[in-house]
Amino acid sequence: MPLLVMKFGGTSVATLDRIARASKRVAREVANGYDVIVIVSAMSGKTNELVGWVEETAPLYDAREYDAVVSSGEIVTAGLMALRLQEMEIPARSWQGWQVPVKTTSAHSAARIEEIPTDNINTKFGEGFKVAVVAGFQGLSPEGRVTTLGRGGSDTTAVAFAAAFGAERCDIYTDVDGVYTTDPRIESKARKLDKIAFEEMLELASLGAKVLQTRSVELAMRYKVKLRVLSSFEEYDPTAGTLVCDEEEIVEQNAVSGVAYSRDEAKMTLISVADRPGIASAIFSPLSDAGVNVDMIVQNISEEGRTDMTFSCPTNQVARAEKALTDAKEKGDINYREIVADTDVAKISIVGIGMRSQAGIAAKMFKVLAQDGINIKVITTSEIKISVLVDRKYMELAVQALHDAFELDKG
Ligand code: ADP
Ligand code: ASP
Ligand code: MG
Repeated sequence: MPLLVMKFGGTSVATLDRIARASKRVAREVANGYDVIVIVSAMSGKTNELVGWVEETAPLYDAREYDAVVSSGEIVTAGLMALRLQEMEIPARSWQGWQVPVKTTSAHSAARIEEIPTDNINTKFGEGFKVAVVAGFQGLSPEGRVTTLGRGGSDTTAVAFAAAFGAERCDIYTDVDGVYTTDPRIESKARKLDKIAFEEMLELASLGAKVLQTRSVELAMRYKVKLRVLSSFEEYDPTAGTLVCDEEEIVEQNAVSGVAYSRDEAKMTLISVADRPGIASAIFSPLSDAGVNVDMIVQNISEEGRTDMTFSCPTNQVARAEKALTDAKEKGDINYREIVADTDVAKISIVGIGMRSQAGIAAKMFKVLAQDGINIKVITTSEIKISVLVDRKYMELAVQALHDAFELDKG
């Protein structure tokens, strides 16, 4: 039997009605002759609620119990969808991560999938089941504990199943009808893309476009999974949505394909650090040991023999970063005058594989921001992206100005 993976995100399973609607789509693919693996998220808002309960109970929580609690949202939706499908006379059952089992690393709350054995689910398909409804976002560690894959992780579950089972396609059903040139919620002129290259989608996702989890794009690229993003609210159309594909499949290419933003950024500066060989290592090793995800880094000269070191990290890791740096100072490993944390910043990025061959893109980006009076605090670039840190109050303005200037509304 040909096999499809269909993933439904939180808003697509937010109520019993929506679960029923999603189930109809699954039924249609079963009628088209497919066996289907459905990956479900928790009902929208549920994971946030569960995270809130954990943080309220224990601010410095045990990550294993965090995973035990936050993985429960997906379990409910998987069971409900299996029941709904059974009501429609479709042979279906639910699967929790450990039952498959989805084998992961032990990195609780950010685990990676290592292996998905196919025999248990395939045996059930062999017995006449048509649909396996799998709880997304969760797995099992080598120690036998439940793990979760990081926020947005059901996308990754979906792509990993598509790769493991050799699915014909992996359809990601969500609340927008595809991948846009930027988030349609903050730029009404954002344009839906029919196709986007893996490399661009990877950058957009890692720079904040939450429509797909970064790791899911990495896996799709590595295992050549045919990946499509489409709306669970629109009428059925087999050509709908956005196909994430190899860049060779894309005929026309603007220099810039999309704009991403992340409001969850903080800028930290260590003022007046002794400038000597090994200083970067002495600062960033304890941060790494403390699990701080450092992104942008800038080193400036201050007074003679001293330097200011600036870096960015997620806002919710500022306290952890401060503690790691204070401890390192107390131990005498580093020496600085003070730490300044600015949590009122956002990162804006432009992405496009066309940038590889076109000069002047960075200059144009900086000019556009300057025209709107937006000050740039930190800059980083790679072959196909340019990111800047700006005051958060300018975030939407910056996205819109760049979207306009690079004419992303035009195809
Ligand atoms: P789901 O619950 O289905 O996983 P998410 O909320 O995780 O959905 O992701 C979909 C959201 O991603 C959209 O509602 C949209 O606001 C946001 N988004 C950000 N950037 C983009 C983009 N470039 N294209 C489409 N959606 C985007
Ligand atoms: N429910 C999880 C989250 O909100 C996983 C997902 O929806 O992909 O992050
Ligand atoms: Mg998501």
